[in-house]
Amino acid sequence: MVKILDGKKLSEVIAGELALKISKLKVKPVLAIIQIGNDPGSNSYISRKKSYGEKIGAKVHHFALPNNVSNNSLIKFIKELNDRKDIHGIIVQLPIPKTLNKYEIMEAIDHRKDVDGLNSKNTNILYESPFENSDAKKNPKGLVPATAKGIITLLKKNNISLVGKKVLIVGRSVLVGKPTAMLFIAEDSTVTVAHTKTKDLAKLAKESDIIVSAAGKAGLINKNFFRKGQVIIDVGTNSVSGPKTIEESSKIKMVGDVDFEAAKKIVSAISPVPGGVGPMTVASLFENLFEAYNLQK
Ligand code: NAP
Repeated sequence: MVKILDGKKLSEVIAGELALKISKLKVKPVLAIIQIGNDPGSNSYISRKKSYGEKIGAKVHHFALPNNVSNNSLIKFIKELNDRKDIHGIIVQLPIPKTLNKYEIMEAIDHRKDVDGLNSKNTNILYESPFENSDAKKNPKGLVPATAKGIITLLKKNNISLVGKKVLIVGRSVLVGKPTAMLFIAEDSTVTVAHTKTKDLAKLAKESDIIVSAAGKAGLINKNFFRKGQVIIDVGTNSVSGPKTIEESSKIKMVGDVDFEAAKKIVSAISPVPGGVGPMTVASLFENLFEAYNLQK
């Protein structure tokens, strides 16, 4: 029978662990979320982060900036937060308007407060550590992008071994695909990263032990991709009914990239959408906040 990789349940276990650690701290960890504009998807992600933060006893400050904020004033604002001793983690909620320079903005965040792990100091640690020495390989001292970290935690906590496994990652984004590939390499998996120019994706998928889909295309990973014994991680979040108003954003029905009904008849384990990678991303983000807090001691 297929095993459902329940990210919601695991994120609650992690919440309990974090709450216990935070209850012992005199000064509580504080996360600053900077939102630019009013993207409905971002509103819903931010409210999930706020409620998880509340549950574990961390504080979340939400700074809403206008859509037309300039690159320079945003960077100046980030630098003010970098200097504040009462702020331990900083997120610029993505996506941001195209008028802003995402790279410069991520670089402006102090790497010890960069809980999204997108500053080049953190990505360098993530990308280079697997090749340096075995200690760094297993314990990189940087902050790792939360979705990638959440995927690995979900697999490990379900006792799914990664060593020597053939892993197919569909998607090569800086936010999900690439960091996930690096973490699997560090776990001694053999990784293939696919994208829109990849030929015969179904064949590559059938040859893989683990498929991670982060394409953002509903139904892309269908019955032709599966074989017995596989583990499927569905990162995709696709709105079934298209973009809605901000008020309706919390009620949008989301589906993943994977044909869940077809997969569960064949594979051995699968993460659902919702309730799989999404809650693990939030839990990992707050694990990062706790790590960031300790880095700043
Ligand atoms: P992205 O930047 O748009 O990247 C999508 C990647 O998928 C690209 O590399 C693209 O290839 C590839 N791709 C798209 N269609 C494909 C196809 N038909 N065949 C093969 N590859 C294809 O998106 P992202 O930020 O990585 O996010 C991916 C998905 O994960 C989205 O649905 C997003 O909402 C979701 N997400 C979920 C969480 C969570 O916590 N659950 C967190 C982050 C993201 P090219 O490079 O060739 O264009």
